[in-house]
Amino acid sequence: MKEKNDLMEKIVALSKRRGFIYPGSEIYGGLANTYDYGPMGAELLRNIRNIWWEFFVQQREDIVGIDASIISSHKVWDASGHTAGFSDAMIDCKNCQARMRADHLIEDFAGKNGEEIKVEGLSESELDKIITDKKVPCPKCGEHNWTPVRKFNLLFPVKLGILEGDQSLAYLRGETAQSIFINFKNVLDSTRVKMPFGVAQIGKSFRNEITPGNSIFRTIEFEQGEIEYFFDPEKEDWEKLFNTWKDDMWQFATDKLGVSAENLRWRPHTDEERSFYSKRTEDMEYNFPFGFKELWGLAYRADYDLTQHTKHSGKELVVVDSETGKKIVPHVIEPAVGINRLFLMTLVDAYREEEGRIFLKLSPKITPFKAAVFPLLHNKPELMDKAQEVYKMIKKQMPAAWDARGNIGKRYASQDEIGTPFCITVDFDTLTDGAVTVRDRDTAAQERVKIENLLDYLNSKILS
Ligand SMILES: [Zn+2]
Repeated sequence: MKEKNDLMEKIVALSKRRGFIYPGSEIYGGLANTYDYGPMGAELLRNIRNIWWEFFVQQREDIVGIDASIISSHKVWDASGHTAGFSDAMIDCKNCQARMRADHLIEDFAGKNGEEIKVEGLSESELDKIITDKKVPCPKCGEHNWTPVRKFNLLFPVKLGILEGDQSLAYLRGETAQSIFINFKNVLDSTRVKMPFGVAQIGKSFRNEITPGNSIFRTIEFEQGEIEYFFDPEKEDWEKLFNTWKDDMWQFATDKLGVSAENLRWRPHTDEERSFYSKRTEDMEYNFPFGFKELWGLAYRADYDLTQHTKHSGKELVVVDSETGKKIVPHVIEPAVGINRLFLMTLVDAYREEEGRIFLKLSPKITPFKAAVFPLLHNKPELMDKAQEVYKMIKKQMPAAWDARGNIGKRYASQDEIGTPFCITVDFDTLTDGAVTVRDRDTAAQERVKIENLLDYLNSKILS
């Protein structure tokens, strides 16, 4: 466990040092559970987002994308059940004022004692009873002096200044899924989609929750990649569709993001934790340094969401069968992933310490840079000119870094830590033989490649 805690600390330190992740509002003392992505983080995040969009939207014939507003009418969230039921059971320590989730408090307490206590689906009074019976102490101050367990809604309310009364209440979305459901009819009317079809979205969501740390794993502002896959329950076998989705998600994690399959697993939800309308829910979990945790949820939600929005909006959300004229309320399967969790997973999975060097063995498909170019010496104009030429040639086709500072060893080390798969050195031989030294991130092996073949060489390695 100590080794695993060390790993998380190392990743957090590397993320800060190399510009992947910074603490939010840092120069003003920070703001808990918020993070900013630096130059390397912004690139990695963008690449993950793009590759997700390519794989699940652009390369498929049955899925279209939308990009909906973050602020939405309170009526959306009344209909979805979020204003009433989207809450965490919280408890406050009367002695030190620490506030925490009651279920996490019990789980952590039980974990330390080697016990297992099921907390999913318990009411506030049931959680209260466990905390009292077991005399669970405050993890901050050690006292047992608690307020009763209370529900805190996770939605962020927004007051819109220009509107009167009830109309002025809106929410930052708590999930991207609802904006897919409320645009269901718009998509149907404005495109030529035919069932089964999916509507996908990547975007920010907001949940006002207290989080247990672990860097960007759980934050109050986060990015989701969600798909609602609509189908006719009389024509499709939902279990078959469900399993196909499991295969696609697995393929994305292992093949597209290059994560090792041995760190992934499926966990079916128990009856207590599954929503009442869901017939089956499974989480793809990743083995983070703080344990196997949810990465990607897959839920069969039947017709719950469209039916709720039809009830509340008075608009009929149906597909009319072109042959029979029959109105069908589609059922839906929902794969929902946190893009930031994918990001953290790729860093954890890629982190290597071998033979005294640290490197990120990221898939070249998602690295911030595909190559870095170095002149052997920065004070030789002929080397600088040639290296600049090579650098510009590569940069036209793919993101590339330039480094002429310090010695070659230091330049390798800094590229290794951001996962750049290939470092290219222009030396004195280059001026006569037209070839450069290409050094591989993972093996540190070097080979000479002719400049005229360099782009083909890099492309074949990155795409393979
Ligand atoms: Zn306390």
